[in-house]
Amino acid sequence: MSLKLDGKKLSLEIEERLKNYIQINKTIANRNPGLAVIRIGEDPASGVYVGNKEKACSRVGIKSYIFHLKDTVDQKEVEQLLNKLNLDNDIDGMLLQLPISKKFDEQRLISNINPEKDVDGLNEQNIGKLVKNEPAMRSCTPAGIINLLRSQNIEIEGKKIVVIGRSLLVGKPLSLMLLNLNATVTMTHSKTINLNKICKEADILIAAAGKPNLIDSSFVKEGAVIIDVGIHRLKSDESKTRLCGDVLLEDVIPKVFAYTPVPGGVGPMTVTMLLVNTISSWQKQFGLSSTLNDLQP
Ligand code: NAP
Repeated sequence: MSLKLDGKKLSLEIEERLKNYIQINKTIANRNPGLAVIRIGEDPASGVYVGNKEKACSRVGIKSYIFHLKDTVDQKEVEQLLNKLNLDNDIDGMLLQLPISKKFDEQRLISNINPEKDVDGLNEQNIGKLVKNEPAMRSCTPAGIINLLRSQNIEIEGKKIVVIGRSLLVGKPLSLMLLNLNATVTMTHSKTINLNKICKEADILIAAAGKPNLIDSSFVKEGAVIIDVGIHRLKSDESKTRLCGDVLLEDVIPKVFAYTPVPGGVGPMTVTMLLVNTISSWQKQFGLSSTLNDLQP
């Protein structure tokens, strides 16, 4: 029987550790860790994601500061807020909830975030350090995937890993993190020729294409590990919707050694790694014990 890589269960276990860590260390720091989340506009999905982050923070003892800006704000006003938060000693981590309107220069906004508070790991300085394999804030979804693999002692070093997708949010940082962990990585994308054949060679196949049910069992080697990053809400009948990923799971599961479900696989780990990054910034600021270091990719 295939092994389910249960991100929900693992994230609850990690949250318990984080909660204890904060409990023990908050008297030394004299305050709880703080995370600022900036949301612009009324995109409903962003509202749900921000709400989930807020709830996760409160479960472990991180104080969250939510800034919900109207979509009439301009680039300068957002930059001013980011600069203010950079200087705020109660804020250890901050992030800009994406996507934002095309009228903003997104990368310039992210560049304004102090790299030490950049809990999404998207600032150029943090990406540069990832390329150089130096310690820095790492982006959450890739870091969560690595923790999921490690939780079941799935070897990364020396393995052939194929990543489908090359976005700055998932595919690229994930490929670099796996390369830094000595995997042999192939990064694929929409212009890749013969994707099926390349995927079939993978010991670990990671789908982050954002295309529902793109990957069926014909893409997967017998006994491989499959990680599904995609998340899509499909209408099943007139009133109901259901979530699915990039992988046609019912077709793939009988063939693989291990798989991540959707929902309950990669998604919960992404939020958990945001908490880990915020606490790790707090830890550095106050010189606290480094007992959470094993959670870093
Ligand atoms: P994205 O920015 O749209 O990037 C998608 C990537 O997949 C691109 O590099 C694209 O190639 C490639 N691609 C698209 N169609 C393909 C195909 N048919 N064959 C091979 N490659 C293909 O998306 P993203 O931000 O990386 O997110 C990917 C998915 O993960 C989405 O479903 C998103 O909702 C989900 N996600 C989930 C989490 C989580 O926590 N679970 C977090 C982040 C994202 P090109 O570069 O050539 O266009």
